[in-house]
Amino acid sequence: MRITAAVSRDGEAAPRLEQVDLSGPRAGELLVRIVAVGICHTDLRVHAGGGVGTPRPVVLGHEGAGIVEAVGEGVTHIRPGDHVVLSGSSCGHCPSCLANFPTYCREVMPRSFGGQRMDGTSALSQGGAKLHGHFFGQSSFATYAIADARGAVPIGKDVPFDVAAPMGCGILTGAGSVFYSFAMRPNHTLVVFGTGPVGLAAVMAAKLVGARRIIAVDPIAGRRALAEELGATDTIDPAAGDVAEAVLALLPEGVDFSLNTTAVPAVFDAAVKVLGMMGTAGFVTAPPGPWTTMLQPLLAGGRSIRGIINGSAVPQIAIPMMLDHWRQGNFPVDRLVRRYPFADIADAFHDCHNGTAIKPVLHMENA
Ligand SMILES: [Zn+2]
Ligand SMILES: [Zn+2]
Repeated sequence: MRITAAVSRDGEAAPRLEQVDLSGPRAGELLVRIVAVGICHTDLRVHAGGGVGTPRPVVLGHEGAGIVEAVGEGVTHIRPGDHVVLSGSSCGHCPSCLANFPTYCREVMPRSFGGQRMDGTSALSQGGAKLHGHFFGQSSFATYAIADARGAVPIGKDVPFDVAAPMGCGILTGAGSVFYSFAMRPNHTLVVFGTGPVGLAAVMAAKLVGARRIIAVDPIAGRRALAEELGATDTIDPAAGDVAEAVLALLPEGVDFSLNTTAVPAVFDAAVKVLGMMGTAGFVTAPPGPWTTMLQPLLAGGRSIRGIINGSAVPQIAIPMMLDHWRQGNFPVDRLVRRYPFADIADAFHDCHNGTAIKPVLHMENA
């Protein structure tokens, strides 16, 4: 079928809408009409050619939400007409998948960033030539996507798609870090570095679990104010001085958990310095360039530093749970969303990059 997709090519500031061809779902896949899709910094980084070697031209987008149009062979838990959030792709049979940690699937890198199915094919083409896709098992910067059914989460039809879409990655990452990676409890303390969608989701989640102290660090005053509205007990402007010292002035014993949602190298140091005994520093993105881990405090304090992918969550459990809290007004993720017509993807990329939009969400209607 002929669809409209945003294609990432070398040397262009943002993906451009083009007419491309999409073949039907194979075994284990869904054809989804995308209604809304969030933009995540991973999209910006990969579009810019950063890091992970995704081949081009390619269709990105990994926070898709929409309506299932058709299902491939063997898909039994999802039917045409279902509303779904798309998260990542996983194999279903490696030890991580079998242990219900699909975000740590042993094939997570090629399935997320390889630009094609594991057998080397792509559902996308243009003028008869292969177009790379299957980004996080979805490539949802498009009016339709072929999605890995294992990453699809059915949702209630009452949920607006722009609320649902960012649940697939950004919101899942922040909230899952608190709920699952850290398993935070009411006696715990948390400092969040960076209050974009990931950081603010962590703040909301920490409030939900009743965390004793929630400190949010961000240079933007408006974001600090929003963090306070959403549950932060304290905020810190990193421009005001040494961030680690400011955290320790609030909690001299150190924090139980730090969550670094930034790629700023100096923040990795601060995120370890603020830890109390047996504290854990979680991070969700890697800094550019070399960074030396502070091995001595990790060793001496029995501390750990932990990489976290999508909050270590089982999306099919976490997303319906977050949506229930959203329905009850206790997880107001809609406050992070700014809507853009699909055709304005370049503006959305720009606003995402410079931070004027916390969670840009594209709308595909009439694309
Ligand atoms: Zn993402
Ligand atoms: Zn697996």
